Amino acid sequence: MNSRLIILGSGGPFTLPQFFCECSTCETARKEPELRRTRASAAILGEEVTLIDAGPDLEMQLERERIKRIDNILITHWHYDHVAGLGAIDYPQVMCGWDPIDVFVEKSSISRFSRELEYLKDRITLHPVSPGDLIALRDATIQVVRTSHTEDSVGYIVKSDTRVAYLVDTAQPPEETTRCLNDVDVMVLDAMFDSTDTKWRHFSVQEAIDYWKSTSVKTCVLTHLSGHRWENRHWIAGLTPEERTEIEKQNKGLRFAYDGMRIPL
Ligand SMILES: [Zn+2]
Ligand SMILES: [Zn+2]
Ligand SMILES: [Zn+2]
Repeated sequence: MNSRLIILGSGGPFTLPQFFCECSTCETARKEPELRRTRASAAILGEEVTLIDAGPDLEMQLERERIKRIDNILITHWHYDHVAGLGAIDYPQVMCGWDPIDVFVEKSSISRFSRELEYLKDRITLHPVSPGDLIALRDATIQVVRTSHTEDSVGYIVKSDTRVAYLVDTAQPPEETTRCLNDVDVMVLDAMFDSTDTKWRHFSVQEAIDYWKSTSVKTCVLTHLSGHRWENRHWIAGLTPEERTEIEKQNKGLRFAYDGMRIPL
């Protein structure tokens, strides 16, 4: 079976348009639905369904892509925009008679399940993971790598015919992670801010491009796109669709992610 990775959501921590914002980016997205973005996550589809993260838009994303089952979930880190959809797997797991879902979480975050999602304990099988681990799934081997976002945040390198590194929510990754990218074909990379001078634990678009170009990876897909700039403590409109197209033209191999984007594996 041809497996593929689908970008379920390409947005930052808020859906785009953002309910509290009247900037030109949000107003344009209100008029043109294809410019809307849900919270960042991805799905590997093949013999099984493997999600990378389960954000608050999970159910609508699965419905949009007609994904009717979940076998595995790889969690990158314990932030609302990446885990708030986990509660939604409770009833479907019982109603559809699925086996417990295998959930892979960085080992320091395991205790959060018993604190925050105790009611899921019969629905899932928890697997603690650490950077360097290899997870053997039916459709791909997954390598766990460290990212620079929270103390225990991780990314995943999906090793199938195509090798895809999914590094969402990161600033400059540690050297040991960069070394793991040598044989990677596609890098899906955090580019949360459109401004260039952020001091957050996220890449800006330009920082992400600079990092990608420092590696040998041929193709880069920018994701976790807030679509805004943070400048002088103001949240303002970011790049226009035309400016994004121009950046893609100037950087061969670069694409901005969109909801529903497909990467063959
Ligand atoms: Zn995030
Ligand atoms: Zn806005
Ligand atoms: Zn985060």
